[in-house]
Amino acid sequence: MTATLSIHPAVDRGLKPGAPDFAGGTLVCHCAHDPVEVTIKGQCAHNHVCGCTKCWKPEGATFSQVAVVSRDNLSVTANEDKLEVVDASAAIQRHACKGCGVHLYGRIENQQHPFYGLDFIHTELSKEEGWAPPEFAAFVSSVIESGTKPDQMGNIRTWLKEIGLEPYDCLSPPLMDAIATHTAKAAGVLRD
Ligand SMILES: [Zn+2]
Ligand SMILES: [Zn+2]
Repeated sequence: MTATLSIHPAVDRGLKPGAPDFAGGTLVCHCAHDPVEVTIKGQCAHNHVCGCTKCWKPEGATFSQVAVVSRDNLSVTANEDKLEVVDASAAIQRHACKGCGVHLYGRIENQQHPFYGLDFIHTELSKEEGWAPPEFAAFVSSVIESGTKPDQMGNIRTWLKEIGLEPYDCLSPPLMDAIATHTAKAAGVLRD
């Protein structure tokens, strides 16, 4: 692997295990003054690295790192007035800091959406240790859309597997199944 390529700083040197009974933490944006703070109660779920072009990622990272929490367990606890929605037409409303550009959380407002009730967060914004680590890599092929050379994809997929992150070009099978189940129930094809 080339020294210049980073999957994401949180996983490049291997995964850190999550802490049992992790109580949560505070996500803080990158502003030196008056940072936005978001407090999370409890552990995150479905943490993964994401290759899409929409998720916020730190400088130099090829992938973002993104997890979900119940929206009831997330509250903005400082400088909420600095937040703005990046793209109001997107399914996930990503709330970014106007000062530094960091995305503090993504929220789904459409109650029909399969993932309604979940907020998307970047656990590296918190200094607390013990967050559940990423479990897979999503939308891997999409990193080409943000400038990765197609001939690097073999190396990237090999490296992801070495880290223990199975590469998928959409979401993981359990999450794709959850979306399809939601869609099938909404269409009346599948009953509880
Ligand atoms: Zn900021
Ligand atoms: Zn993404």
